[in-house]
Amino acid sequence: MIKIQAFGGYSKIGKSMTAIDVDGEIILTDMGADIEKLVDFEDDKSIISVHDTPALIDNGVIPNDVKFFEENGKKVKAIVLTHGHLDHVWGVPFLAAKYKCPVIATPFTIKVLDNLMKNFRQKGINTVRLNTGTEYKLSESISVELVNITHSIPNSAMTVIHTKYGAIVYANDWKLDDTPTLGQKPNYARMQELGDKGVHTLILDSTNVDHDGYTFSESVVRTMLEDVIKKSLSNKTIFITTFSSHIARIKNIVEISRKSDRQVLIFGRSMAMYIGAAIEANIIEKSKLPEVITGRTKINDILRYVRGKPGKYVILCTGHQGEKGAFLDKLATGQYEYRLGSDDAVIFSSRVIPTTLNIANRSILQTALEKLNVNIADNVHVSGHGSKNDYKLMIKMLRPKHLIPSHGGMDKISVAIDVARDLGYELNKTSHILLDGQELSLE
Ligand SMILES: [Zn+2]
Repeated sequence: MIKIQAFGGYSKIGKSMTAIDVDGEIILTDMGADIEKLVDFEDDKSIISVHDTPALIDNGVIPNDVKFFEENGKKVKAIVLTHGHLDHVWGVPFLAAKYKCPVIATPFTIKVLDNLMKNFRQKGINTVRLNTGTEYKLSESISVELVNITHSIPNSAMTVIHTKYGAIVYANDWKLDDTPTLGQKPNYARMQELGDKGVHTLILDSTNVDHDGYTFSESVVRTMLEDVIKKSLSNKTIFITTFSSHIARIKNIVEISRKSDRQVLIFGRSMAMYIGAAIEANIIEKSKLPEVITGRTKINDILRYVRGKPGKYVILCTGHQGEKGAFLDKLATGQYEYRLGSDDAVIFSSRVIPTTLNIANRSILQTALEKLNVNIADNVHVSGHGSKNDYKLMIKMLRPKHLIPSHGGMDKISVAIDVARDLGYELNKTSHILLDGQELSLE
């Protein structure tokens, strides 16, 4: 008997965690935070420590595993992480140690986790670096394998649990990028092979299942960036902001800027953290990226030098969601020694993650930049999540007996159920709606 228990990541995006119980042996996949609630929590409390774990659970920041741990803690054989986004890993320093089992992930994800553990002064978990394409035996009857997939952070993987019932595949998050600009394209051959051998259950990220067509490749953004940096904003000082964890995007921005005879500067602690993890995990060579600059004094020194030299610099920075306290917010509100004006441009290589707070913050930032006559290029970006046709392709390759859509809430899940019906899946028999806090038993 297989039981799937959803802690988070089904009713809405965030706080991902699922327990997969195979005849009494349990694997936990992902252990993330609800980022919106985390930001609220951080507003009230500037320093978070492991002593805050009960409060983090009560405030819905991390999954509530209290009752589960009491009843099933000893049955947990492993915690497997799919990728290094905080909605998938942030909870580990607070929840993982008590399970006394390995935390398994690809090398880059482990580096991100190491940094989180250091940040919260936490020890006591046994991490296992598992490269994609290799299997790790958990017991006599189950093993785990990570399969390479593309997303918007390096070293993303699908978790595959091999059982006597067939494979259980947990694919959160993914896109199908055949021309990625960093790392390998998805391992289609292995997915077909898994489909041939028999997939019992597929848990599938449905974030963009309501978007028609296919999601564009990261190489498309590279072309967009080339266009905007080399042509339309060629005579401006460019401030460009993107997700700090999007190493492929950062690499492309640096390469394109250097080819355009611009010097690139990278500012910010979160950039330093993710870029450091990518170098340590051999995702990218140190020589390919400039040193990240942190600290107000150093940044001010450099900005004083940069000002009045349009067309010469590209500054990669944080603050694409308009977050208070991030570099762009501070720059736009005059907290650095650099006065923005019509010789400057801001490129948002991102999209607004649609929470009330982000929408408000971003609108405030945009208004401030417009008042200063700054040139703005928005949404120079493609998503890291597969669209409707990609979704169909995943199902056709893996051909699971049971399909469980995850991520995005009922809006997205109901579209996923419709897509599955067109492919022959029947609701409550072979396709299933699972929401946070619910459990599903499957033959
Ligand atoms: Zn993700």
